[in-house]
Amino acid sequence: MPELPEVETVVRGLREPLVGRRIDGVWYERAKVIHTPSAEQFSARLMGQTVQAITRRAKYILCVLDHDILAVHLKMTGRLYVSDGPEAGDRWVRLRLQLDNGQQLCFSDARRFGRVYLASTVEAIAPGLGPEPLEDAFTAAVLRERLAGRHKAIKALLLDQSFVAGVGNIYADEALHHAGIHPERAADSLDSAEAERLHGTIRKVLQAGIDYQGASVNWYRKPDGSKGESQDHFYVYDREGEPCLNCGQPIIKTRVAQRGTHYCPQCQPKR
Ligand SMILES: [Zn+2]
Repeated sequence: MPELPEVETVVRGLREPLVGRRIDGVWYERAKVIHTPSAEQFSARLMGQTVQAITRRAKYILCVLDHDILAVHLKMTGRLYVSDGPEAGDRWVRLRLQLDNGQQLCFSDARRFGRVYLASTVEAIAPGLGPEPLEDAFTAAVLRERLAGRHKAIKALLLDQSFVAGVGNIYADEALHHAGIHPERAADSLDSAEAERLHGTIRKVLQAGIDYQGASVNWYRKPDGSKGESQDHFYVYDREGEPCLNCGQPIIKTRVAQRGTHYCPQCQPKR
């Protein structure tokens, strides 16, 4: 699933073609793609609104309109792009918004898990999201406070969007590796030096992911259809059995919080 760096890359790629455009038409394949409000209200409210800004909260792409926020969650296989119409060979377009310059915003989604939302606030779309890890307000002290009293495995907590927003399976594994922390450690067992390290590596791996324009391990593509390069720089994710880039030990794959989890047994001891 696209995580913060992938969603941020999509957001940056959509600004140029979308900001300032007016929505003149709405087409959807099935009403189910529209999470909120009803499909009829969604279409009626969107018509005539102009895109003022494109931004991101957690893993949601947010189009700030005159009176509403249009949010898109890509889930497993969602793609969002602007073109003259669906790309050749794209059989998975579920929603299209006609723009005033003749182009279309296409939401393509093979598995149909992705959803769009229209509401006046982000909180109405996704209540209870945790802090944005790349914002200045997310300090090491904030992370330490949030870890206190949490007995869950640290990996599971990092995946919890109410704990910290935007981190998913890839960047959780990478951040824990760089911090030298075993993914099954109880969150409140981290000492303050470990919490400080983890704070730094969460930010480092997410920023690097953005700089590499996301990880094209599955369906994720940039809005222009090209692949990101983050996957070429993984230390542990998707590297089961390959040598650790720090110590040479084979990377282990296990399951934590029902998710495939990769770590180095030497660099990330369980203690
Ligand atoms: Zn290692």
